[in-house]
Amino acid sequence: MTGRATDRIDLKRGDITAEAVDAIVNAANSTLLGGGGVDGAIHRGGGPQILDECRAIGGCATGDAVITTAGRLPARHVIHTVGPIYRDAPDDAVLLASAYRRSLEVASEHGLRTVAFPSISTGAYGYPVGDAAQVALATVRDYLDAHSDIELVRFVLFSADDLAMYRDALSRISRG
Ligand code: ADP
Repeated sequence: MTGRATDRIDLKRGDITAEAVDAIVNAANSTLLGGGGVDGAIHRGGGPQILDECRAIGGCATGDAVITTAGRLPARHVIHTVGPIYRDAPDDAVLLASAYRRSLEVASEHGLRTVAFPSISTGAYGYPVGDAAQVALATVRDYLDAHSDIELVRFVLFSADDLAMYRDALSRISRG
C-alpha cells in the first residue's frame, strides 16, 4: 500500500447507523444485550436480528470485539467492541487501544475493507474526548501502517465539538 496510513483515515460528523460500509463498530457493553447511546441507535435501526446474534455470542470482555450481521442497517456487519469505563487509571488507554485494535483485527479476519467507528467510551463511559481521540487515532494509524487490507477507517462523530477534537488529534499525529 502506498501513501501514509493517515490518508486512509476519514473524519466526519454524522449518525453512524447511516454508514454503508463493510462494518460499523458499536460501543457496546460487556453483556452485548443493548444499552443507550450509539448501542441503542444501532439496535433500533438494525432490528432484532442483531440482538439475537449478540445473545448467542453471550458477551464480550472489555477491550475485545465480536461481529454480527447488521440487520436492516445499510452496513454489512456490526463489530461490537467494549471500551473501558473511564477511571483515570493507566489501564484506560491500554483497554481503549485494545478495543480499536481488536475491532480492526476482526474486520481483517472477515475480509472487510471499510470500517466506521464512533467515539468509543466518550459517552456514558466518561472518557475525556481529547484523550480518547489521541488513543483512537494513534491506534488506528499504527494498525493501518502494518496492514494494507483495510482501505478506509472512518470516524463518525456525533457532535461538532467531538469532530473538532478528532480533527485536532489527527493533525497532531499526522505531524508526529
Ligand atoms: P460509551 O458507553 O462507550 O461511552 P456511548 O454510546 O454512550 O458509548 O457514547 C459514545 C459516543 O457515541 C458518544 O460521543 C455519543 O455522542 C456517540 N453517539 C451516540 N449515538 C450515535 C450515533 N447514532 N452515531 C454516532 N455516534 C453516536
